[in-house]
Amino acid sequence: MIDFSGRTALVTGGGSGIGAAICAVLAEQGALSVVADLDAAAAESTAAAIRSKGDRAEALDFDVTDDAACRTAVESVRDAHGGLDVLVTCAGWTLMHRLVDEEPDYWRRVVDVNLLGTVQPVAAALQVMVDQGGGAIVTIASEAGRIGTPGQAMYAGAKGGVIAFTKSVAREVARHGIRANAVSPGITDTPLMQGQDPADMAKFLRGVPLRRLARPEEIAAGVAFLASGAASFVTGEVLSVSGGLSMAG
Ligand code: NAD
Repeated sequence: MIDFSGRTALVTGGGSGIGAAICAVLAEQGALSVVADLDAAAAESTAAAIRSKGDRAEALDFDVTDDAACRTAVESVRDAHGGLDVLVTCAGWTLMHRLVDEEPDYWRRVVDVNLLGTVQPVAAALQVMVDQGGGAIVTIASEAGRIGTPGQAMYAGAKGGVIAFTKSVAREVARHGIRANAVSPGITDTPLMQGQDPADMAKFLRGVPLRRLARPEEIAAGVAFLASGAASFVTGEVLSVSGGLSMAG
């Protein structure tokens, strides 16, 4: 049931890490992956790698913090491909420091990229999905937004917002045949996490029952499930893919 043949999927943040893995797995299962990223060269590189395997992908560069650009991008996909079946909001960004050492401009940027950078593409996609009578949205949250992370307070606040936003959207648009779910990754081996203090990473991994970082493809597998017909009765859920970090009864 994880078959995206004939479907069009737009993935923000598709130029790197988790987003690139999501684009690849959706394309492997038959989708046309529209690889969206602020970094045009990175988006094209992901799309070219997918095409080199015989799957379908194209690149699209826009900034998820720019509402008008999000709307234009989604409309261009609809006009070129006759609709938009799947939206995955994976663009994200953070740094690691104590809240008391941070400036308000940094907090605003974190909210702009991670929270408004989710809200704006989703709002644009819903215009199309409501008109076509269905669709699937998967947002990328973070375990920081569920259980908190020292050094990432504002990011955790923004990702907690992504979770509450996703649930609210799920309730709002269910009657249009649109599902909205979140995937909540634990620490994943991507460029975003490179350069972390090894001592901090070792401490963190002691709290992960499976005792390792996630691979981007493992997060992508959760996204593919939630976006697919296999999850046709699942909406408003948060799927943690974190090696057991936040398991609860
Ligand atoms: P990454 O840095 O490898 O990739 C993020 C991509 O988003 C980059 O290609 C970047 O150019 C793009 N991007 C950033 N700002 C953008 C903007 N304003 N407009 C458009 N594109 C923009 O990061 P990643 O680790 O693959 O993270 C992907 C998602 O997963 C993010 O939402 C992140 O918060 C989340 N996440 C990551 C981890 C982890 O440990 N890596 C853990 C939990 C959640």
